[in-house]
Amino acid sequence: MTKQIDFPLIEVEETAKAVIARGGFIYQKWTCGGCGKRITGNVRNGLFIKGHCEECNHVTDLLVTGCNYVAFMPANARSVQQPTETKQ
Ligand SMILES: [Zn+2]
Repeated sequence: MTKQIDFPLIEVEETAKAVIARGGFIYQKWTCGGCGKRITGNVRNGLFIKGHCEECNHVTDLLVTGCNYVAFMPANARSVQQPTETKQ
């Protein structure tokens, strides 16, 4: 059992950008304001201010409710924790 917690979209964007900068990618997640279903977006690295539910057709205002994401990191980024020294 994992508790689903949503955060303000602006904070989510900040941390999502950090994941993407490290070579990972994210899918946005939110809870439908209509039916309460937990939804995962289908746009890679996409963060949206409105979330449409295919089950009940409700559009959730994610600026109001907040959201989260699921992050995927490439295997070779496993040891990267502090992106303080990023050199190309
Ligand atoms: Zn719904």
